Amino acid sequence: MLTDIRRRAEDRLSELSREYFQHHAGYKPDLAMAGIMGRYEDLQAPEVRTSIREAWEAAADPELKLQLGYLYGDCLRNVLRRELAAMGDALGQAEAKAIVKVADGNISYPQASIAVGQAADRAKRKAISYATRQVTHELNAQRMALLKLEHKLVQSELGFKDYRAFYEMVRGIDFAAMGPLAETFLADTQALYQPLMAAWAQDALGLPLAELESHDVMFLRRAANFDAHFPQDKLVPALHATLAGLGLPADTLSNITMDLDNRPGKSSRAFCMGVRIPEEIYLCITPHGGADDYQALMHEMGHALHFSHARADMPFEFRFMGDNSVCEAFAFNFEHLTLEQAWLTDVGGLSAGDAEEFRRYQYRMLLFDLRRFAARHLFELQLHGEGAMARKGEIYAELLTKHLGVRYFEEDFLAATDGGFYTAQYFRAWCLEAQLKQVLKSRFGEAWFKNPEAGAFMQGLWANGQRLPGDALAKHLGFEKITPDALLAEVRGVLAP
Ligand SMILES: [Zn+2]
Repeated sequence: MLTDIRRRAEDRLSELSREYFQHHAGYKPDLAMAGIMGRYEDLQAPEVRTSIREAWEAAADPELKLQLGYLYGDCLRNVLRRELAAMGDALGQAEAKAIVKVADGNISYPQASIAVGQAADRAKRKAISYATRQVTHELNAQRMALLKLEHKLVQSELGFKDYRAFYEMVRGIDFAAMGPLAETFLADTQALYQPLMAAWAQDALGLPLAELESHDVMFLRRAANFDAHFPQDKLVPALHATLAGLGLPADTLSNITMDLDNRPGKSSRAFCMGVRIPEEIYLCITPHGGADDYQALMHEMGHALHFSHARADMPFEFRFMGDNSVCEAFAFNFEHLTLEQAWLTDVGGLSAGDAEEFRRYQYRMLLFDLRRFAARHLFELQLHGEGAMARKGEIYAELLTKHLGVRYFEEDFLAATDGGFYTAQYFRAWCLEAQLKQVLKSRFGEAWFKNPEAGAFMQGLWANGQRLPGDALAKHLGFEKITPDALLAEVRGVLAP
């Protein structure tokens, strides 16, 4: 019975992924996920859930237990998906059609954050940001109802103590233990962060740090002053040069389809989708130029390489599921090539001085993001813990403002967090990537990305899919487990005076 269930579960995942790809690539106007879920209704039967759970509990072999744990976690998440689908769809539709009203015209709510980042005029970005927050506030009742229902279902339907306990089982990560780790990281980086951020606010915006608000950082993030160094027509050639340097020329990567054309309905956000892993991987992007575009393409290529090299004979749970700290670490590994001096000069064609300036800019942003995600994890532990929901917006604004020195707003507490503790997985991925890069540099040199032996080494790691959870991969690389030490050393190496 389990063999049939697993085969159908893989087919369902594959069909859902294809539907997602076709819709977001602009090939199919409507997204019909519910129809696909309906065709696999048999997988939602209580006896299916029971038989997976029993197999998981009975498994003695640690690897089989891990594999069946992922399958069971996915099965439980599908129970939630079904129960939450109607409310989730309603929220999605409300967000899509919401309008942000500003003095010089209307902006659609999903596009508003892009408009904030592009507004060089401070009064303008503040106006858009405040008007957006008004809409966010109006949508919060729906978001809160959805989250409360999920919290309730996890206990009443799935029998877990709480939301955190459930996701700790699904991901195999101790999210509670990551609380003190985030606190330590914030304390350890405070002395480096504070003066750097104050100087940045003064130089880039002419403002004291205490006056900065979250939308000012969205503008800094856009890094528009570097656009000339990252032209649209050099984006794909830079990617091809990187792949060739690693001994993985693009024309040999036959499992990866690059979708670069512009078409109506295509998502403006780059994404990678493994429809069948490893055989059928799509990388979707509409190049427009700018550093963020290069970083997005490199990030998604990291995912695509990982998926397309997964061993086909591995259980599908290790190809499609598991600890996403691992797949995100491989994605960051490629994305962060754009932070390497040698990559910027040799592949990007920047002068040594421009490359240095760009790196310092980006590492400041990275330090900001690491602290933002550490603070967000502390908040998410509280969001999904006890205490009245009404107070949680206040806690969000307090925590982020305190640790970033930039004003954050309580209305954003639900819109600015990821479900299922994904924030913590990104944080782990950044740490793991720095460990991986330390190994790559010590084995293959500073310019490891120009060494085909490094490409072969990476192919060996990608082949495992997510068979090794994050800490096991760190161990495989010679570390005790995932820790922020390598990442801190890297950030300090660039930013410390
Ligand atoms: Zn990613």
